[in-house]
Amino acid sequence: MSLKYTCPICGTPLGYEGLCWKCKSEQERKAVLSWASEQIKEKQDGLIRNIQRLADMEDPEFTDFWHLLGYRDAITPEIQREALAEKVFYPCELYYHAPGDVRDGLIATIRETKDPGEAGNLMMCLAIQGDDRALETLLELEQNPRPWQRKLYVGPSVYAQCGGWTFDKEGRRTQLNFDTCYPMVKGTPGEESPVRIGRLREDTCPHCGGWMVDMLVLDGQDERLKFLGLDGIMTATCCPNCVGFLKGPAFNRFTPDGGVEVFPSELFDGGDKMKCYIQPEDYQKLTGNPFVLGKTDVPLFYGAACEDVNTVGGFANWVQDWEYVTCPRCRKPMKYLAQIQWDTVFDGAEGTLYIEFCPDCHIVSMQHQQT
Ligand SMILES: [Zn+2]
Ligand SMILES: [Zn+2]
Ligand SMILES: [Zn+2]
Repeated sequence: MSLKYTCPICGTPLGYEGLCWKCKSEQERKAVLSWASEQIKEKQDGLIRNIQRLADMEDPEFTDFWHLLGYRDAITPEIQREALAEKVFYPCELYYHAPGDVRDGLIATIRETKDPGEAGNLMMCLAIQGDDRALETLLELEQNPRPWQRKLYVGPSVYAQCGGWTFDKEGRRTQLNFDTCYPMVKGTPGEESPVRIGRLREDTCPHCGGWMVDMLVLDGQDERLKFLGLDGIMTATCCPNCVGFLKGPAFNRFTPDGGVEVFPSELFDGGDKMKCYIQPEDYQKLTGNPFVLGKTDVPLFYGAACEDVNTVGGFANWVQDWEYVTCPRCRKPMKYLAQIQWDTVFDGAEGTLYIEFCPDCHIVSMQHQQT
């Protein structure tokens, strides 16, 4: 493909005339963020009128839904009631913290259904609704499996994870994500930030010989990041070239003074050598990225609605299924911390890096997903 054009905003070479997809997404977001309340109301009414089209992923309803939820936190109980009435159980995010009557409707429906596909969607809806009655219902299904559960790959406690929590055999809840979300935004050159993406290290990767990189360095003492409950600095270190080719996630232990101990890793093909595809100019682009922590927090699904925003906290935009890594030390599920969209820091790179951590063991995991 010849790249005859360039994006008029950021200068990225393109094979077509117009904005690159990232600038387009950013422009779209800015437009949504400037919607007046009447415009929001109009979109909400549109969704209520055509809720079935949302389930069919038809636009404008599908895009409007994600804009309302992700950027404006504006999915109302009326929308949720209409979705329930029309048996629209996808996307499950529709039901985030839905009121009791809607939750009871979901519970009644899951008790009646015999269809494994619908039951799976309903478990996700209950997980996203997320209150104690939802937990009781999923726990009851875990203890007394229905025939349709044989058709599903994982149990109700794993379905619960899509709502950012899970439960044990006794029904004790563990929260797996944070109810605060901050975006990374483009800062001015040299701007101070308690979160940095991409800091080059001095050590190299044993598999490919490329540079190891502190993909995320975060100062938990910053007022905005107090919600993480960290007593100092958290560093997530990996080889950006190899992290997508490992058998499982990359792990490291971190100390509050900024120390890092990288755990040994294995390549998924069983070999121990990998070609390094990252060029010197790519490392430069990565470490020179403009991202700083945003000044104010944003809706929890802010980073779940698009592919061009890096976020700390809230919900991730999982490319495949949600995946909470088991802590290699205490065996408990880790907490979701941040996502980095590769294409925002490497030109033309695909996929997302998901960063999780165990607050008890001070161990962080990094995993890569792409379509
Ligand atoms: Zn652009
Ligand atoms: Zn490597
Ligand atoms: Zn642990």
